[in-house]
Amino acid sequence: MRKIPRFISKQIGRLMSEKMLFESPAPVFLPFYHTVSNKKLPHILNYPYRNSAEFEKELDYFLTWFKPVSLDYFVKNPKAKEKVFHLSFDDGLKECAEIIAPVLIRKGVPATFFVNSGFADNQKLFHRYKASLILNELTEKPNREALQFLGKHALNKADILQTELSKSAVLDELATLLGINFSEFLKTKNPYLTTTQISALKRQGFTIGAHSENHPEFWKIPEEKQFNEIANSMNWVVENFAPEIKSFAFPFTDDGVSLNLLQKLKSENICDLTFGTAGLKYDECKTHLQRYPAEQNGNFRLNLKAEWVYFKLRKMVGKATVKH
Ligand SMILES: [Zn+2]
Repeated sequence: MRKIPRFISKQIGRLMSEKMLFESPAPVFLPFYHTVSNKKLPHILNYPYRNSAEFEKELDYFLTWFKPVSLDYFVKNPKAKEKVFHLSFDDGLKECAEIIAPVLIRKGVPATFFVNSGFADNQKLFHRYKASLILNELTEKPNREALQFLGKHALNKADILQTELSKSAVLDELATLLGINFSEFLKTKNPYLTTTQISALKRQGFTIGAHSENHPEFWKIPEEKQFNEIANSMNWVVENFAPEIKSFAFPFTDDGVSLNLLQKLKSENICDLTFGTAGLKYDECKTHLQRYPAEQNGNFRLNLKAEWVYFKLRKMVGKATVKH
């Protein structure tokens, strides 16, 4: 059922100009990405990413219609009506420093990088990246023993990219079976930013925020664990990078996070601002903002226009605000 309004939004979006859509009242526009690369990244099969040319084209498009602002804008102007955008990047991948930041500096676009305290400096690999490396190997060299092992643990090749953190040990065993060494991968490929690189990003004027310690599925863990993942990673960011604004972006989604927890993060001074990934929507919590997943398949412009139409349709039926 949810597909029908999305489909209709796309059709209406085709007929509407950017001017008609973007200049009408809407929530703040917060597109987010993970990485940008001109190479195939074997650890990232779980979402599409842009190459540099595509990324620059998308940036230019944003700059045509919106004014780029830094994160403090939202603290200083909670009710601003200007057409602004703020970019962010999740997971703390090394391309943030090597490819993305130089482009942003050249174009004068501020951004926030949300990093995981458990992954920075290549300490550990995100479980979905483990799954990607495994799927890559299984696709290149089908292995019957590995497929049987997956079956024994109620997993299959088609769903391996959705494996949850609680099943990370299964991925570790499977990797051993396939001769994949995650520690070696971390050491030789350095997929993540180092703390030195994160400090340099901070000095260049970017904001550093937290994205949990281990990137768990928050809707699968109790509130106490959710709180610890947020507070520990936020403290790590504060101690290491002293950001002016304490910001946290929920990994995957904020589904399963209570309003009570969001309010507690603010009232206990753990976070100034928190972020979800529900797209162009208002949020019932004033210090919690929703971001737009920019890395979608299909035509970028059309996807964005459809997002605006979808917001307007939801607004018409009183469903443009996320409730927790
Ligand atoms: Zn993430």
